[in-house]
Amino acid sequence: NSGSRDITAAVVRGKEQPFVIEQARLRGPQDDEVLVKIVATGLCHTDLIVRDQYYPVPLPAVLGHEGAGIVEAVGSNVRELKAGDHVVLTYGQCGHCNPCRGGHGAYCRDFFALNFGGVDGHGHTAITDAQGQPLHDHFFAQSSFATFALAREINAIKVPEDAPLELLGPLGCGIQTGAGAVLNSLQVRSGSSFASYGAGAVGLSAVMAAKVAGATTIIAIDVVPSRLQLAMELGATHVVNSRETDVIEAVRAITGGGADFALESTGRPEVLSAGIEALGGLGMMGVVGAPKLGTTASFDVNNLLLGGRSIRGIVEGDSVPQVFIPQLVTLYQQGRFPFDRLVKFYPLEQINQAAEDSTRGITLKPILRIA
Ligand code: NAD
Ligand code: ZN
Repeated sequence: NSGSRDITAAVVRGKEQPFVIEQARLRGPQDDEVLVKIVATGLCHTDLIVRDQYYPVPLPAVLGHEGAGIVEAVGSNVRELKAGDHVVLTYGQCGHCNPCRGGHGAYCRDFFALNFGGVDGHGHTAITDAQGQPLHDHFFAQSSFATFALAREINAIKVPEDAPLELLGPLGCGIQTGAGAVLNSLQVRSGSSFASYGAGAVGLSAVMAAKVAGATTIIAIDVVPSRLQLAMELGATHVVNSRETDVIEAVRAITGGGADFALESTGRPEVLSAGIEALGGLGMMGVVGAPKLGTTASFDVNNLLLGGRSIRGIVEGDSVPQVFIPQLVTLYQQGRFPFDRLVKFYPLEQINQAAEDSTRGITLKPILRIA
């Protein structure tokens, strides 16, 4: 295939196995694909749950789904992007099913296949390892733990060249998820109360967005004191350490009866149950935290019914990435969305250290510098 090239990639060879840095080969861009020279890629909790096979992405695979880089070459059907453009890579969507046409690509009919299938739309991989064996790829339509990645034009989002590209990759997933859940899905109102269950990268992005939206009571709940401290600096008006305090009582007391809006990003069903209990009348709970497939949570049906409360699942902040990611860049540049406070940079070679620091609560949002 013309345009194929040698790349360096972090490969997961087996369930719960560390990432291995390998030399591999990536084919060139076809049709609506863009080849992107990756500058940096965020590490999201979702990469780790796939490494550990909560979601059955076939292995061996190249993961990575918060890539940022520079367009190197484009396929013959690419219309707007060109070599040299700065892009943030985001989730894959088909672009022509009803949810995609309605501006809800995160609920694309083919979302699971396009983002977790480990192959392209035709069942093929684009990467081979040093022995010539195929590696599963197209993870979130990018597989960006590598020096180069193939994306499609629809999930490569052009960003301004005066923004710091090495910082922007997490806008493609974790940051967009927390901020979009608040601004697009829940539509947190000015003057309202918001509770963020989890003060990780997603939860703190939600806290910053709730401040942008004008919420006047913003509660961050976590078990890591340093994260709660940072939450206060980013806009939380109250914090609750759920290891030390009864969360339901605390949130009800702070809000005078229950939160108007809440977001669950810990992935723990008991935290979700508690958060639903601590909603006020007409309160809305958004669910973004991802447990193992098949996990169930319980709630008091009459508590939901009588208070007119609701629960909704949210993927990727329900954003139209072409619209929302540039908006987040502008908010960042204006100092109103300081997500750089969450970030620590690592070289790609230290990806396992970055993963461990993330799991242990030392680093909120690792970004791997690649070029
Ligand atoms: P993270 O690990 O940085 O954040 C999770 C936070 O939950 C941590 O700060 C942790 O201390 C806290 N926590 C754990 N147990 C707790 C408990 N019992 N009570 C209170 N807090 C507790 O992860 P992240 O990158 O912020 O991602 C959060 C979740 O969102 C993950 O499950 C991830 O897979 C998921 N995610 C979903 C989407 C989506 O589109 N729905 C997108 C990105 C990430
Ligand atoms: Zn993610």
